Amino acid sequence: MSAKRFDAIVIGAGQAGPPLASRLDAAGMSVALIERKFVGGTCVNTGCMPTKTMVASAYAAHLARRAADYGVALSGPVGVDYKRIKARKDKVTNDARGNLESWIAGMKGCTLYRGHARFESADTVRVGDDLLTAPKIFLNTGGRAAVPDLPGVDGIPYLTNSSMMDLDVLPGHLVVVGGSYISLEFAQMFRRFGSEVTVIEKAPRLAGREDEDVSAAIQSILENEGIAVHVDAGDIGFARQGNGVAVTFSAGKPPVVGSHVLLALGRVPNTDDLGLDKAGVAVDKRGYIVVDDQLRTSVPGIWAMGDCNGKGAFTHTSYNDYEIVAANLLDNDPRKVSDRIEAYALYIDPPLGRCGMTETAVKKSGRRALVGERPMTRVGRAVEKGETQGFMRILADADTGEILGCSVLGPGGDEAIHSVLDLMYAKAPISTLARAMHIHPNVSELLPTIAQDLKPLA
Ligand SMILES: Cc1cc2nc3c(=O)[nH]c(=O)nc-3n(C[C@H](O)[C@H](O)[C@H](O)COP(=O)(O)OP(=O)(O)OC[C@H]3O[C@@H](n4cnc5c(N)ncnc54)[C@H](O)[C@@H]3O)c2cc1C
Repeated sequence: MSAKRFDAIVIGAGQAGPPLASRLDAAGMSVALIERKFVGGTCVNTGCMPTKTMVASAYAAHLARRAADYGVALSGPVGVDYKRIKARKDKVTNDARGNLESWIAGMKGCTLYRGHARFESADTVRVGDDLLTAPKIFLNTGGRAAVPDLPGVDGIPYLTNSSMMDLDVLPGHLVVVGGSYISLEFAQMFRRFGSEVTVIEKAPRLAGREDEDVSAAIQSILENEGIAVHVDAGDIGFARQGNGVAVTFSAGKPPVVGSHVLLALGRVPNTDDLGLDKAGVAVDKRGYIVVDDQLRTSVPGIWAMGDCNGKGAFTHTSYNDYEIVAANLLDNDPRKVSDRIEAYALYIDPPLGRCGMTETAVKKSGRRALVGERPMTRVGRAVEKGETQGFMRILADADTGEILGCSVLGPGGDEAIHSVLDLMYAKAPISTLARAMHIHPNVSELLPTIAQDLKPLA
């Protein structure tokens, strides 16, 4: 069978594939876009969008329970209708997916193939009965939840971030195994929906890449809502117990028995079933596709974008990968991955916005640095909103004034962080922030105040 010829093949319709297909199409190229499940990938279908939609429902329930704090009287207890929460989430994701499908259908030179793609050679890919060939192939295959081989895991009905999205009953007791970003968002939202929730983390603290005091503040935010947190859990194992699951851990505590268990123990790239060996594309020892600073793989004519290349694990990093590839190929603009500054958010409430280095990383770097901090109890907007948990921290180089990093754990922290992030991109010194007039009353308003009162980092 002869292969159908295209100018480009894009495998995976995640966060980078469709916008790249659109740019290539607009440049007059013929494109085959291949998706084995849902267009939009993880973010739209089982990641950011559904979780943030559910986080919004959880926030509404939480605020309603706190109504009396604001002088608002409710005539009865706050109830949660989980089926309606799920229906709302399904509508948001289905609408987004539908919009994406219409967008792709409108790309004149782009053909969407539904099926699993596998390399036959460096320029040829099989999708079901179709053989496709192109001189340029772009991989955007994303990742999936890791399910480590823990004792007893095969014998229990565990959930992952994907199957959580299909759950249509509220767990009586949700045990979340893993204490990082995805786990903590699920833990808090289900607690707010009314489930009993336990978080079990092997490491000594939650969100272990953050500064210790940030981790501690996150833990206390969760515990204040009645979430049981076990850190330093040692070896974790599972066994069925009645209708539920017993989660054992070796740190000398009795097992926790839950009605449901969510495994949120990291992600693995979707690269093991792509036939990469047939194309000669190199992967590292964790299965991530090896790419250079402009996202070229080890094989000329093949690029990798998004979670599958291990250079990021976020929607914004995947989209930025698309921008880098498009800029290099179509705009004669040599953008590169190393131009970007690390930035992300943790969407518990209050959220954590982060950019650049943590205090721990700055200390490790050995440079002379300055630090400024402020608790949310001393931020007018947080006090007015009745949401005073958390704090902000900014770090700058003591010799050059370069802004090194920032953490904002507090109301609107996921938005406020961008004023610091953009200054970092502009390479503006901390004195620029110190002299800026910000709008009152806002959490961001205090960033210049903090910048005016920095102390040497001990
Ligand atoms: C619960 C959860 C919450 C998250 N929240 C956030 C958040 O708030 N903010 C944020 O920035 N990030 C968040 N993320 C991470 C974010 O979803 C991912 O980083 C992002 O979706 C990665 O996009 P991608 O383009 O690399 O791949 P994906 O979106 O995973 O898309 C890859 C696509 O490729 C397809 N595919 C794979 N292999 C093949 C094949 N062989 N043939 C054909 N198709 C194939 C898949 O079906 C999939 O549709 C979250 C993740 C999870 C799990």
